[in-house]
This record gives sequence, structure tokens and C-alpha cells, in this order.
Amino acid sequence: MRALAVDIGGTHVCCGAVDGRELLELFTIEADGSGSLSSLLQPISQTLRQFRARYGERFEGIGFGFCGLVDSFAGRIVSTNHKYPDATELDLVSWAKNDFGLPLILENDSRMALLGEGHMGAAQQASDVVMMTLGTGIGTAVIMSGRLVRGKHFQAGCLGGHFTIVPGGRLCSCGARGCFEAEASTYSLPKLSAEWPGFESSQLAQVSRIDFEVLFNLAEKGDVVCRNIRERCIELWQACALSLVHAYDPELLVLGGGVMQSSFPILKAIQQHIDDSAWTPWGKVKVVAAKLGSSGALLGAVPLLEERR
Ligand SMILES: [Zn+2]
Repeated sequence: MRALAVDIGGTHVCCGAVDGRELLELFTIEADGSGSLSSLLQPISQTLRQFRARYGERFEGIGFGFCGLVDSFAGRIVSTNHKYPDATELDLVSWAKNDFGLPLILENDSRMALLGEGHMGAAQQASDVVMMTLGTGIGTAVIMSGRLVRGKHFQAGCLGGHFTIVPGGRLCSCGARGCFEAEASTYSLPKLSAEWPGFESSQLAQVSRIDFEVLFNLAEKGDVVCRNIRERCIELWQACALSLVHAYDPELLVLGGGVMQSSFPILKAIQQHIDDSAWTPWGKVKVVAAKLGSSGALLGAVPLLEERR
């Protein structure tokens, strides 16, 4: 099957032309999550038209991933969590029909990424998989018995980053306090660091843009504050992974997201914690790195469209 694919993130939009297991072309459009989604539809349309001009008309549909809660069956974005505030009002199914004469299937971006990993990445041949993505926030998705877990209101499996780890803790973008995402993610890191005891004496105080790559590098050089923050975040990711294992009973845990590109062996630390602490009398959950990076969600368009055939 050939599919057009769109993945809407907070800082950019990826558009892809996919043929079965092959990503024919990927094009990235800069975006601003605080702006409107409707203003992005014109450049997205233009990109998809170019794909059709280059690769022919045989595309069977559009798989459309969005960084929020999505009613995949009604084709509606349900909640955006402060990104693209107009997104819940848009009729993307009609947009796809009018502009391309194609069906459009919407899905949460983390779920699309997991579908992609199952289709041709790290989760092939696995029927029960949990994916945890350490990106700007913490995204999660679940496949059980070979099917995406969605739940009655399309919230199941994708809110692992909003499990409470610190009751009464940091305020999260979702409105709750003490979510994993609020306590240990790229977006919460600058504030978390600035409030860490001894921050002023840390080299981190001289850094204009704090992210995990910077933090891990300074920790390696011996910065004590960075080491302590690193330890805390690893501990929370381990706890998140373990909670996901206990909640969804997977055979495989796939770790993705930009933070995984850093030099610190996060995967090993999480595998160790799962081995030591998971209540899995049947055996061990295998922890693996995602293989597809940012193309994962695009490659998920084919299995997403195939699911509705
Ligand atoms: Zn939250």
C-alpha cells in the first residue's frame, strides 16, 4: 500500500510519502505549536501534492498523526494540551477529501510511531509492546494482542507521561501535579534545574538552552548538580517504564525520542531496573531502542490505513 503521511509535532511538521515499508520521501516544515494548525494546512497540501506529482496517483489515503488526544474513528482532534488551539475545530477528513479525494485517518503521534516500529522497526513480530518516547515531553503507546490500545475515550495507553509520580509535585501542562512529564522531561528541565539546590554554582547556570544533552555532558565532566539531576531523571524514567510494564503486560518495551540520542546509556539503566524490579514471573521484558526515529510515525501511516480496510 502507498500512503501519504503527516506528523504534527510542537516545533515542526513531517510529511512523508510511504510505499509499504519504504519511506520514499520526507519533508519537514517548521511550525509553531502556539500558532494555528489551519495555517499549516496550505503548506502541507502543497508538499503532499508534490509527492503525488513525483510518485504518481496510487496513494490510497493519508495517515495523520497529531501530538494530542485524537478520536481516530470520528477523525477529530479532541484535546490539544495548549498546542495548536484551533485544532479541535478543524475537519481534517473533509480537508483530505476536498484537496486530494483521499480518506484520512487521524491518530495520536505516539501511537503512529509505535505502529511504525511494529510495521518495520524495533517491534516487528511482537504482539504486545509498550513504547515510551523521551522527547519534549514523555509520550507512550501500547499494542496488546497485536492491536493498538485506544480505550473508550481514546486516552488509553497514551498518557503514561501523565502518571502521577510526585503527589502535589510540579504543575504539569495537563493541569495535574507531579506527572512524570512535569518532573523529568525536556520541557520541564530548565525550570527543574533552575530550582535545584546549588544551581547557581553549577556550570548549567551559564548555559542559555538547557537540554539533556548539555546536562549529561556536564555531568560526565563532574558537575555535581548535573549528576544529581541526571540521577533523579533516570530514576523517574525507570519508574515510568516499570509502571508501564505493570499496567500493560508487554513482552517488549521500545524506547524512542531525541533524549535517547544522548551519550548516557539510558536503555541499559531502564533494562536493569525492569530486570530487578518488574513483577513478571513469566520472564523478562526486553527493552530495545526505537529504530525509525522521526520517520516512525510516518511509516505508521500504512498499518493505520490497513487497519480500517
Ligand atoms: Zn500531566
